[in-house]
Amino acid sequence: MLFKKLLKDEQGSVIVIIAVAFTVLMGFTALAVDTGLLYLEHTRLSRAADAAALAGAQELPDTSKAQTVALEYARLNGIDPDTMTLSFSPDRKEISVVVNKTVDLYFARALGFASQAVAARAKARISPVKEVKGLIPLGINESLLPLSAGTEYMIKGGSQDGAPWRGIIEYPGQGKGGDNYRDLARNGYGGTVAIGDIQGKVPGNKSGPAEQGIEDRIKACQDGCTWNNYRPGCPRVALVPIYRDMGEQVRVTGFAAVFLERVGNENGKGNDNRIYATFINYSVSGETDDSIINSYLTSVRLSE
Ligand SMILES: [Zn+2]
Repeated sequence: MLFKKLLKDEQGSVIVIIAVAFTVLMGFTALAVDTGLLYLEHTRLSRAADAAALAGAQELPDTSKAQTVALEYARLNGIDPDTMTLSFSPDRKEISVVVNKTVDLYFARALGFASQAVAARAKARISPVKEVKGLIPLGINESLLPLSAGTEYMIKGGSQDGAPWRGIIEYPGQGKGGDNYRDLARNGYGGTVAIGDIQGKVPGNKSGPAEQGIEDRIKACQDGCTWNNYRPGCPRVALVPIYRDMGEQVRVTGFAAVFLERVGNENGKGNDNRIYATFINYSVSGETDDSIINSYLTSVRLSE
């Protein structure tokens, strides 16, 4: 055999060959181990960047709150906030996250490489949703646009508010009965409503039932939530249509999320109950359409 012959005849050269081969082998091992390490770290950073971008985007177009939430999610995923860079698109509908990290290498140190920079990036964008399930039978008149987060709106008037219609909406398949409205206010409409849909109006105050439904939701929150700091899934967060008043009917022109504040009873009479809610930036999952304007309920997706 060649190897045996080499051993016998040229032992010195063989030792050199083995030494070189061993060094090369070690080099490859170092490369493989450290490449794996870098790959794992990049995967971890990418996941954290994605999570931070998705969470932050839910607060858009409020970029300062988006920044707070993105940093919080980064921290939860073990990322040092100092290694993360955030930026926003000029229309404030997109957040970009870049995470940089210097990874210490093990085997490659022997070859003179002590560390390697790893970067991960993610972008998430909000877009208006086309249709919504679970709306409560109250909404916001489009004449009040633009909505601003933290502003309180009266979403149902009381008897002192003049007009025969106080803001209760009739969705398809729903009757005009009081119990019906208590259930809709409590649980939301089971059907899907799309932008452009025409809905009926329910006359009168429905003071007891509609308010009971809203009161139920407010009481069901056990966490002391506020519009600015609420637990995910809080029952005080409700989805509402934005509508154009067409006289006999309303046309749905958009959607929004609100935080239910209170049932007001300023005059001490049951039928004077008004309902107040604060507009919040909020995202749901659903099909989107970027051509929709003046709608405030969005869906978030990774855009890069
Ligand atoms: Zn709550």
